[in-house]
Amino acid sequence: MHEWALAEAVIAAVSQVAEKEGLKEVKKVKIKIGELQQIELDILEFALSQLKPAKFKHTKFSVKVAKAELKCRVCGYTWFFTKEKMDEASAEAIHFVPEIAHTYIKCPKCGSPDFEILEGRGIWLESVKGVKQEDG
Ligand SMILES: [Zn+2]
Repeated sequence: MHEWALAEAVIAAVSQVAEKEGLKEVKKVKIKIGELQQIELDILEFALSQLKPAKFKHTKFSVKVAKAELKCRVCGYTWFFTKEKMDEASAEAIHFVPEIAHTYIKCPKCGSPDFEILEGRGIWLESVKGVKQEDG
């Protein structure tokens, strides 16, 4: 039920943005999810549609997966991780236990398994679009 908790967090974040921007209606929300985040997109989209408050009645949520960007701690090389290049078993293992990514992923330049994940974990809002409240 991880997706439901995330959907709640997304809606709370969107509500905050809407309030700050003075939006009376939210039209479109773009969400990005890191490739290494363990998430079922279908469930997340369903959860969003179920949890959205009246203010978001006409809101379209678009969820996209963002590629993971990694940085080697040894040589400083940065690269994008793509699951397509891995064998299926490794990709599956990383999907279910992102922490073990270090066992499978190595710096393509120097071969070090010591890297940090710059992007690719978590979930964030890319944009929130809506109709502004009119003055007066
Ligand atoms: Zn390196």
